[in-house]
Amino acid sequence: MKRPPVIVVVGHVDHGKTTLLDYIRKANVASREVGGITQSIGAYEVVHPSTSSGNNERMTFIDTPGHEAFSKMRRRGANIADLAILVVAATDGVQQQTKEAIKMLQETETPFVVAINKIDSAGADEQKVKNELMQAQVFLEGFGGNTSWQAISAKTGKGVSELLDLLLLAADLEELTYDPAAVASGYVLEGKRDGKKGIVATVILKDGTLKVGDMIQTGTVSGKIKILENFLGERVDELTPSSPARVLGFEALPTVGAEFHAAKALEAIMRVIAKAPERVVKQRLAEGEAELNLILKADVSGSLEALSGIMKSLPHPPELRVAVISESVGDITDGDVKDAIGHHATIIGFRTQATKAAEELARAQRIDIVQSEIVYDLVKAIEERLKIKAREKSLGILEILAVFGRKGKAQIIGGKVTEGEIKNNAELEVTRGEVLLGSGKIINLQHQRVDAPVVVAGKECGLLFDAEIEVKVGDRLVMR
Ligand code: GDP
Repeated sequence: MKRPPVIVVVGHVDHGKTTLLDYIRKANVASREVGGITQSIGAYEVVHPSTSSGNNERMTFIDTPGHEAFSKMRRRGANIADLAILVVAATDGVQQQTKEAIKMLQETETPFVVAINKIDSAGADEQKVKNELMQAQVFLEGFGGNTSWQAISAKTGKGVSELLDLLLLAADLEELTYDPAAVASGYVLEGKRDGKKGIVATVILKDGTLKVGDMIQTGTVSGKIKILENFLGERVDELTPSSPARVLGFEALPTVGAEFHAAKALEAIMRVIAKAPERVVKQRLAEGEAELNLILKADVSGSLEALSGIMKSLPHPPELRVAVISESVGDITDGDVKDAIGHHATIIGFRTQATKAAEELARAQRIDIVQSEIVYDLVKAIEERLKIKAREKSLGILEILAVFGRKGKAQIIGGKVTEGEIKNNAELEVTRGEVLLGSGKIINLQHQRVDAPVVVAGKECGLLFDAEIEVKVGDRLVMR
C-alpha cells in the first residue's frame, strides 16, 4: 500500500527551518480541536489537498531542529526521511551549512526540493540564490537541472502550499509503499525518561502496523507497547506508516536513530532480525577512527545497557579516543569478529559465550576478545589496554615480520617500524594483540644489513633482541 513520505527540513541556521515547520503544522494539522497544537514530539503529520491528484494526502514532517539528528541517523544508515526540503534564505544565499546539507543529501541520495525562503523580505535576491545553488552543484528546474524549487515566505505562508505539492510529486516518484501485515518497523526519533510514565520514545513507523500490546525491539533494548499515542498525544490502538508514534513500554532508553521492529510475538521479530543482522543487531554507535574501538556484547539488554554506560565513561587519557563501534545482545559470533577485524576492535563479552567459529576466527586474526561474568574484570582489562595504548602514543613501534633464531641469549628478528622510530640499545615492550607480555632490549639494530643507530617508520630492520619472552611473528615491540 502507498505510504506517505517522511520529510526532513535542512539548511543554514536562521534561514527559516523552524518558521517553515511551524507554518506547515499550523496550516495543515487536521485535528485542531484537540487542544490546538500539542507539544511537539519531534515529528508531526499533515494532510494536504494535492492539486495534482485532488486527494487529501498525508505527509510526515520531522521537526527536530537542524539537520544534526538527521545526519547522525543517516550516518548510522537509518533511512528515516524519504525526502528533504533544503531551505535557503533569499536574503542570505548559500552558506556553510547549506553546503554541508547539500553534501549530505547528495551522499545519502536523499531526494530534495529547494525552498527559497524569505521572499517577503526587502533584501531578498532570488536570482543570487539560484546562481549560488548552481555553483554548489544544485541544478534547478528551468535552469538546466531537475531539482524542483519554490520561492516561499515561511512567515506569510506564500508559496508553501505549492512547496507541499512539489513534495508530493517527489514522493510519487519514490513509489513509497508498506505492507500492513508485515512485522512493524521504523526508527527511533527520540527517547526520554519520564518520571511518571517511564521510558517514552517517539518512533516513526515505516512498515507494518504498530499495535498496543506488541512486543517491540531495537538492537539493544526491548519492551512491550503499553500505551500507543499519535503525534497529537491521543491514545490509539494502532498506527500505520508513516505515522509518528509515541511508545510507552520500552524497558530501557533506545538509541536515537535505532531501527525498531514490533510484532505480537517475539519470534516473528526475531525471524526478521535474523534475516537482517547487519542492519538491526549491529547499530553503529560511534564513527571514525579511535585508538581503542570496542564491540560490546551482553546476555540481555539490561546488562548491555549497563556495560555500555560503564565503557563509555571509563576514565582514559585525553589523547586517547575510545569508541564503541557496536553493541548488541547475544553470543559473540564470527560476524562480530569480522566487524572487529574491520575496525581493529576489541570485543567485550559480558555474560556471553563466543561461538566456535568466532573463537577460531579471532585466534587466526589475532582479535582480542575479553569475556567475563564480572564487570569489574572487564573494566580492568580495558584499563590495561588503555595503558598500553597510552604508552604506544609517543613512541616507536616495530612490527615483527620474521623470527630467524637465536644468537646467544638474544633472538634474531626481522621487522618493520610502523610508527615513530626505533633506537639501538632501547628497552622495548613486547605486546601481542592488546596484551603486554614483558620487555627486552635491543643489542644490535641493522637497516639493510648495516648497523644503524635508529630506524624510522616505514623502514624494515633486523635486530638482536634480548628478552625473556619468546617473541613471535605479529608481535609488536614498543619503545617508550
Ligand atoms: P532556523 O534557524 O533555520 O530554524 O530559522 P528560524 O525559523 O528560527 O528563522 C530565523 C529568523 O528568520 C526568525 O527571526 C524568523 O522570524 C525569520 N524568518 C523565517 N522565515 C522568514 C520569512 O519567510 N520571511 C521573513 N521576513 N523572515 C523569516
